[in-house]
Amino acid sequence: MTAPTLILPERSRAVASDLRAAIGAHKVKDDYSTRTAYAVDASIYRMEPKAVVLVESEEDIAATVRYAVARGIPLTPRAAGTNLTGSAIGSGIILDVSRLNRVLELNREERWARVQPGIVLAELNKELGRHGLLFGPDPSSGDMCKLGGMLANNSSGPHTLRYGAVKDNVQALRVCLQSGDWLDAKAYGLDDSRCTDLLKAHRPLHDLRSLLQDHAALIAQKRPTVSKNSCGYNLFGLADGLARGCFDLPKLFVGSEGTLGLFSEATIRLVEKPRATLTALIHFHRLEDVGDAVPKLLELSPSALEVMDANTLNLIGRAKHGIPGDAAATLLVELDGDAIGNDLRAQAERMINISRRYRLTSDPVIAFDPEQREQLWKARKALYPTLYRFDPKKKPINFVDDVVVPADRISELIRYLEEFFAGQRVPVAIFGHIGNGNAHIIPLLDVNDHDDFQKMVQGYHEIHQTVLGRFGGSICGEHGDGRVRAEYVKTMFGQELYDLFVRVKQSFDPTGVLNPGIKISDRPFTDHIDHVRLSKSCATCAKCNAVCPVYDVFQSEDMSSRGWFEIVTDKNYSYLNSKRVVEACLNCKSCRTACPAGVDVSQLILDRRAENPNKMAGAIFRFHAQTARFEQFLKFLARYQSIWDRPLIRRLLDHLTKPFMHRLAETARLSPQLVLPRLARRHLRDRYPELIPQAGAAARSPVAYFHGCAANYFDDGVGDAVIAVLRKHGVEPALPPQRCSGTPIETYGHRALAKEGARVNLVSMAGYDKVVTGCASCTLMLKDYPTLFAGEPEQAAAQALAKRVTHISEFVAQSPVKPAMAGSQSAKCKVAYHSSCHLRAAGVTKEPRAILAGLPGVDYVEMPDADRCAGGAGTYLVKDFDTSQRIVERKRRAVEQSGADVVATSCPACMIQLRTGLQGAAEVKHVAQLIQEAYEAADRS
Ligand SMILES: Cc1cc2nc3c(=O)[nH]c(=O)nc-3n(C[C@H](O)[C@H](O)[C@H](O)COP(=O)(O)OP(=O)(O)OC[C@H]3O[C@@H](n4cnc5c(N)ncnc54)[C@H](O)[C@@H]3O)c2cc1C
Ligand code: SF4
Ligand code: SF4
Repeated sequence: MTAPTLILPERSRAVASDLRAAIGAHKVKDDYSTRTAYAVDASIYRMEPKAVVLVESEEDIAATVRYAVARGIPLTPRAAGTNLTGSAIGSGIILDVSRLNRVLELNREERWARVQPGIVLAELNKELGRHGLLFGPDPSSGDMCKLGGMLANNSSGPHTLRYGAVKDNVQALRVCLQSGDWLDAKAYGLDDSRCTDLLKAHRPLHDLRSLLQDHAALIAQKRPTVSKNSCGYNLFGLADGLARGCFDLPKLFVGSEGTLGLFSEATIRLVEKPRATLTALIHFHRLEDVGDAVPKLLELSPSALEVMDANTLNLIGRAKHGIPGDAAATLLVELDGDAIGNDLRAQAERMINISRRYRLTSDPVIAFDPEQREQLWKARKALYPTLYRFDPKKKPINFVDDVVVPADRISELIRYLEEFFAGQRVPVAIFGHIGNGNAHIIPLLDVNDHDDFQKMVQGYHEIHQTVLGRFGGSICGEHGDGRVRAEYVKTMFGQELYDLFVRVKQSFDPTGVLNPGIKISDRPFTDHIDHVRLSKSCATCAKCNAVCPVYDVFQSEDMSSRGWFEIVTDKNYSYLNSKRVVEACLNCKSCRTACPAGVDVSQLILDRRAENPNKMAGAIFRFHAQTARFEQFLKFLARYQSIWDRPLIRRLLDHLTKPFMHRLAETARLSPQLVLPRLARRHLRDRYPELIPQAGAAARSPVAYFHGCAANYFDDGVGDAVIAVLRKHGVEPALPPQRCSGTPIETYGHRALAKEGARVNLVSMAGYDKVVTGCASCTLMLKDYPTLFAGEPEQAAAQALAKRVTHISEFVAQSPVKPAMAGSQSAKCKVAYHSSCHLRAAGVTKEPRAILAGLPGVDYVEMPDADRCAGGAGTYLVKDFDTSQRIVERKRRAVEQSGADVVATSCPACMIQLRTGLQGAAEVKHVAQLIQEAYEAADRS
């Protein structure tokens, strides 16, 4: 059925058409999919915008601001949309800064950089890391959040203890004011003529300075006494500046949540990257001991000191994370080598001695190795979305999530909260930055249940009141006020100071269009709660966006994994109103691998495609299923490949096949740039007739080789390599009859056809102890057959097969046989590994790397972005060649950076894609081919 949204005229469309005329059509979107995707951020709220602008320059920002102000349309700046407060959604225009994502200037000596607001923190630090530098503030969302949001929220994170919050690390900002004028917001000396000029040029600055001077006593009196605060406007930082003789403008804008102006760039302070780091987990038997241990551990100058309470440990699953069953709380401690100037091992010894004074449930776990340290952080960083797995109805609700109390009273706070929520019979996770006294409190509630809703409202008021009254704390340490805390800002600071905040807002934003409803608002926090979404499985954390190759290229939420979840699960979804986006997914499964909440967006998209199978693809796959005829056709093509695969004829073919390809997808084409593999004149099965079991005969070999289509039909040496490697390990594999595993078929919506082939494979592969694969996609698809046949009679057989599927790299790693190996070339060859998405999703990541690193004659290098999709994904490089090439560009840069001579991988589609995209920058080989070469070199030597 076609959803009404497609047919009904849209009243809001004038906004987008005006903006298109002002700044360019390709930067403005207002279709159903875009509005749906941008209606959420990582908060509990939902608001659908009228239009979204993807700005690409300062001119675009200023023009949009002027338009919004002139028309009185709410304007909400947005970066990654990972805030937990509802501050990046709005009912008017969303101005997305994601495409402004470059480092403009870096000064290594003076340790600063000029950076645009759309850059992801992890990407920024990757780039800075190459110069031995780091941007200190580190929200746990660092893989996905962007600098613009961090600035506007005054974000911080576990390492605030050492590096401070964003406000402590910003030198200057470029701010577009409500007038459309640009302000260079720095700390100006009060006697500096530039300051005088600014005060003359910008009335709001003049008013602000007067306000600070006139109310200095009130501001001093109301200053929060805890070590962190992001509530209200930072008049305290400005007052400090005045006391030092300067007008410290960044202090006003950092933490202003898009309500006073929009940033186009920031000059940020950088720190030296620590040379060595130690991470430790300490499991305490008694919560009270944690409070006692904290001041003692702080004497070691840790860079991070985090806590997770007993409930949190239960909720995330103790066994999964190796946390003892009787731990009442766990502390995560991090020490940096250069911070203390001492031997880290000596520091570790001191830490252990301190811990021994308390009843621990086990010895502290200490890690120096980056991978092990990452493992220790993993649960902590993904905590909030992981809680989404707990219950289908009760979801983690952020409404008292960010309180701050004096650090030495954190145990008392946790005890109070545990008792409070026990009284309400509400499960709760309490964790956070204990070194700063900043606790994240995440109760699990069903907001659609009347009682739970009342408990939320009660908790909101009681807990905030207790934090302020009993603990003298703050209601907001780092997440911002947004919609959720706006109602309570007045209570936190009192009417008088709140009035000053209002005056500041009115002065900078007299028409009230800049992010209305945020920070300064008396609307109850329960307005705009997204009751529908809070019954779904997605935490909207955007962790999947960080790995989604399509989002990486388009930087637009409607072209992203999180956005697609919203779209395909929306009540107004129809294939017609969302075809553009539903067909854009590669089915790379990177989102599924990354999602802490266990959501598989790619599967939801496949479900939707299955409702609208592509007719042309169906005809192709039905032909494909007629194995004998299809293979004859391929052999015919193989015979004449030397003719039709010439550049000129490929160009002609590209042209001639367009109408046909368009029926596959609007973007589909057979680009002449696509480096096609050589088609085999004799297929793999023809070359190894001795391995094909006789019909009706019992299996002779315990190992079957599921070669899939590519290894059978391409003359690329992969199938031969897998067989040769298995033989070296003493296995004569069988090649039972097989059909396409089904990945490409399902991608085009033909689930029934995919199942038809899968049934053949289930029967054919039964009776073998192991089913070895060489192709990443086949590996995953065979392992996923239980999902394909969920609830159907074949499910048990599918489960049995899934357990026996073994990728060739796993097989080699597990094999007791260790054949001799030697270097195949005189000089060492630099090899990097591209980790195919489907093999990662199948859980095979370490074995290929370990094998490559152990090959003689190979200098293994871990390349940047090894775990990112290369953009091939099955037939995507045919379905949307242009996007696939934009995706592979990042991989090409990574390969070049690594200096690798050879890129090894495990997927035929990746091999084609890499050969096309790398443009000769490195040779591309299958992991099995490199193993085979090492074995053969040993035979020769
Ligand atoms: C799993 C998870 C863990 C988190 N952990 C932490 C944590 O440890 N510490 C922490 O502080 N936060 C944390 N957060 C909250 C959030 O990630 C941070 O506040 C982050 O800095 C927001 O960045 P963003 O790019 O997503 O901003 P958005 O959500 O897009 O926007 C946030 C605010 O910035 C404004 N804004 C964005 N760009 C601009 C601009 N160019 N000019 C003016 N205003 C702008 C928006 O209007 C909005 O008010 C976490 C969130 C999640 C989901
Ligand atoms: S699908 Fe998973 S990773 Fe993506 S936003 Fe939802 S919870 Fe986060
Ligand atoms: S499968 Fe890949 S392209 Fe599709 S949503 Fe997930 S990460 Fe994005």
